[in-house]
Amino acid sequence: MDQKLFDLLYAAVVNRESTYEGVYYTGVKTTKIVCRPTCRAKTPKAMNVTFYSTLEDALQAGFRPCKRCKPEANGALGPDAALAAQVDTIIETQYKDKLTLSQLAALLAISPYHLQRTYKRVRGYSPAEKTELVRLKHAQRFLLESNATIAEIGEAVGYGSPSHFAAWFSNRTGISPTAYRNGQGGGDESDE
Ligand SMILES: [Zn+2]
Repeated sequence: MDQKLFDLLYAAVVNRESTYEGVYYTGVKTTKIVCRPTCRAKTPKAMNVTFYSTLEDALQAGFRPCKRCKPEANGALGPDAALAAQVDTIIETQYKDKLTLSQLAALLAISPYHLQRTYKRVRGYSPAEKTELVRLKHAQRFLLESNATIAEIGEAVGYGSPSHFAAWFSNRTGISPTAYRNGQGGGDESDE
């Protein structure tokens, strides 16, 4: 399993977040028990954890279902909604990395086609559009709340070139990054 994905999943286990309910199962090697990611039992050490994308895989590997969190009972999220939530989490944490659909799919160990179709059905837009929305949200926040230059902000949201960032931002919002920073309209437009 990819280390970034493992870290995301393990953080969810530590915080008992429901993001991966029904998507991944936590196998604890020391006890041979398999849990939901939200299990209230003592958090296992990362080195003792193996994640499985299906309960069946965990059971086949010799794990027994936890009596406390009962991973065999139905979770709150359906598998499609759980997948979409998982995609959102990855995009929110890696929006500047220009993850392609194939890279996202590889992180989730599913096909790009299945990812695109399922995500769009649940959310109404594609993972690529979600990435744009997240980048725009962060760009707007940085413009208003930081003193970073336009070039630095562009780079922070995944645009190496300031002119590319400015063109993209203007295209999405109808206003240049500088004008946005200066109060949405009044400022001069010479942001190059
Ligand atoms: Zn448990």
